[in-house]
Amino acid sequence: APAFVDSPYVKQLGKITYGLYNHGWDERNGGNVSCRLFPEEVAPYLDCHQVLRNIPIDFDASELKGQLYLVTGTGRYFKNVIDFPERDAGLVRIAEDGHSVDLLWGFNDGGQPTSEFPAHLMTHIVRQKQDADQRVVMHCHPTNLIAMSFTLPLDAKVFSRILWKMQAESVVVFPEGVGVIPYMTPGTNEIGEATAEKMNDFRLVLWPQHGIFAAGDSIDEAFGLIETVEKAALIYTTVQSQGGKFVNEITDQDLKNLCKRFAITPNQDFIDG
Ligand code: 13P
Ligand code: ZN
Repeated sequence: APAFVDSPYVKQLGKITYGLYNHGWDERNGGNVSCRLFPEEVAPYLDCHQVLRNIPIDFDASELKGQLYLVTGTGRYFKNVIDFPERDAGLVRIAEDGHSVDLLWGFNDGGQPTSEFPAHLMTHIVRQKQDADQRVVMHCHPTNLIAMSFTLPLDAKVFSRILWKMQAESVVVFPEGVGVIPYMTPGTNEIGEATAEKMNDFRLVLWPQHGIFAAGDSIDEAFGLIETVEKAALIYTTVQSQGGKFVNEITDQDLKNLCKRFAITPNQDFIDG
């Protein structure tokens, strides 16, 4: 059988973590990715009855019992995953009791899933209820968006409207806008719960003074959401550095015209009509 390390899933994870690193959004061990795989996708590469070890998790993920996740390891550098996937990533199955995971592949130097695994799994639970094709959760530290969280009120409407108006693509890519939580301690169940709660209504949640969480059907979708938000944040930052005086703008009517053209409904709480 072909080795799981050579599967398209591991290859794509290596490529995307390297891409996130190259953007400057994942210094050192910053960022984490989890991707749901189905048993029939893994079966050609791996005997899923062979459990390497059991890893405890200290919250209840029983709603996901039996599901398989390819996930990056805690403390691992995104620049390295592409060269050392079997060390810096792992394939885990959520155990029956929901309080541990069975390691099926990877973390071969004793590693563990990301410290943000609570936020990832809680997000998967919520998004799977909203979207039957939900697969991926991605967290990273995009510079310009983080900078905006120091200079603007932490309000979803404020952030969403600015990001929508920085480029024509924004409202088309994330018509629901961006959710915002308060600053919270990373790696806790509490930040996981707050993030997941926002994921009922958004696929993007800003973690002020820290980074962003994105959820999607594929690695490309989650990455694309983050790329689009961060491009808007870069344009905003550049406008501010040019003096911050708007001579021209994308108006609310322009946003409505975009939504009409692409047959999408923007978040009615953030735009009138
Ligand atoms: P991990 O190394 O545990 O994935 O944590 C990185 C991070 O970005 C925490 O928010
Ligand atoms: Zn982080």
